[in-house]
Amino acid sequence: MGKITLRNVQKRFGEAVVIPSLDLDIEDGEFVVFVGPSGCGKSTLLRLIAGLEDVSDGQILIDGRNATEMPPAKRGLAMVFQSYALYPHMTVRKNIAFPLKMAKMDRAEIDRRVDNAARVLNLTNYLDRRPGQLSGGQRQRVAIGRAIVREPAAFLFDEPLSNLDAALRVNMRLEITELHQSLKTTMIYVTHDQVEAMTMADKIVVLNAGRIEQVGSPLTLYRSPANLFVAGFIGSPK
Ligand code: ADP
Ligand code: MG
Repeated sequence: MGKITLRNVQKRFGEAVVIPSLDLDIEDGEFVVFVGPSGCGKSTLLRLIAGLEDVSDGQILIDGRNATEMPPAKRGLAMVFQSYALYPHMTVRKNIAFPLKMAKMDRAEIDRRVDNAARVLNLTNYLDRRPGQLSGGQRQRVAIGRAIVREPAAFLFDEPLSNLDAALRVNMRLEITELHQSLKTTMIYVTHDQVEAMTMADKIVVLNAGRIEQVGSPLTLYRSPANLFVAGFIGSPK
């Protein structure tokens, strides 16, 4: 379960039309990357899907249900924030458990889910530490763990690696790709980095000024770019 459909989605901020009208199908289990230059509307689109922003017009369907008016907590999606969104005074276990505590889940189930997430993310030996005692990569994994325990229909990532150094970024890319292969859950990943898009995605959505320029596999975009914008964007070195 993790099929997301956008129909004629529009977003305005006052007079500014940030997304004029957008249609998109994301299939269950896909790793979809939204890529495009700064300010093209990637974060806005992700926040619309998450329910953190209201659409100005159009519909968002999640697994066939109309989610357009649903509050974020009802959508069954998990936004992964950058690792600096962790609580510094809480242990790793408490940081990961936090969304479940808020949802008043019972203790045994919380422990089961946190232990599972820690195993998947290689954090089992770090559960009693605090974020300040972890490496950047470990902190990013804790931020992902906090999403995993909710067992969401889809994970939403907004440039999760942009504050990590280059070597660590390459590492985390691989880890997130592996996580997708083991969980097989829909992932939507926003980046302005074409290398991330090309190496991680099943399907890339190239955005420009709130419009989709092309949707396709990395190979399709590389071999048959729809226009000069896509060719330039995918082709240009970082
Ligand atoms: P990206 O994530 O691709 O860099 P954003 O989605 O953050 O782009 O922003 C797209 C456009 O929408 C930008 O022009 C930005 O200034 C504008 N925008 C985003 N959020 C708001 C807001 N809350 N109010 C007004 N304008 C916004
Ligand atoms: Mg953004």
